[in-house]
Amino acid sequence: MISPTDTPFFKRLTALYARMDEAWKTAAAHYGFVCRGCPENCCETEFYHHTHIERNYLLSGLATLALPMVETIQAKAVDVCKARAATEVTGEPLRVMCPLNSDGLCQLYRFRPMICRLHGIPHELTRPGAIPSRQPGCRAGGHLFDSASYHQFDRTPFYTEMAQIEMDYRRATNNQTRLKLTIAEMVLPR
Ligand code: SF4
Repeated sequence: MISPTDTPFFKRLTALYARMDEAWKTAAAHYGFVCRGCPENCCETEFYHHTHIERNYLLSGLATLALPMVETIQAKAVDVCKARAATEVTGEPLRVMCPLNSDGLCQLYRFRPMICRLHGIPHELTRPGAIPSRQPGCRAGGHLFDSASYHQFDRTPFYTEMAQIEMDYRRATNNQTRLKLTIAEMVLPR
């Protein structure tokens, strides 16, 4: 359920997402890279997400799906969380498909969080007080990335703007709690 407080923040968030998507597309075109899936599917990698605004936007997307689909997603999320709890005991790395992915397609593509949007392309990032660091792209595009000059894809302004939106959102919703959740944890039945 979207509250009146959420609406202006969702607008800021979607405007930021649009700029990320544009920058990603431009960089991908530079390398001639098209994501067609791969054995190292990034949707099988669990990332932590730390922003209330992104979580609530994702949940607003979940609320638009038909109930049977929501129930399927939530059942998968329960299984993913159980699998993770088991690997925490054994210490084995976990590769398990995101519960939002169905037949290779993200069921909440429009609502997917920042890290899903930025993944895959060689990029750079400057953390506060640190020197810029350059990171490689995913393995699926490795040969394309290696055979072309680096196209500047700087995540720093996106991270900075996301932090600002989150800070303003926390203040407006009077919620300063820390957040560290995977997608599966976000969509668990409440
Ligand atoms: S939210 Fe969508 S894009 Fe992100 S990992 Fe899950 S299925 Fe993949």
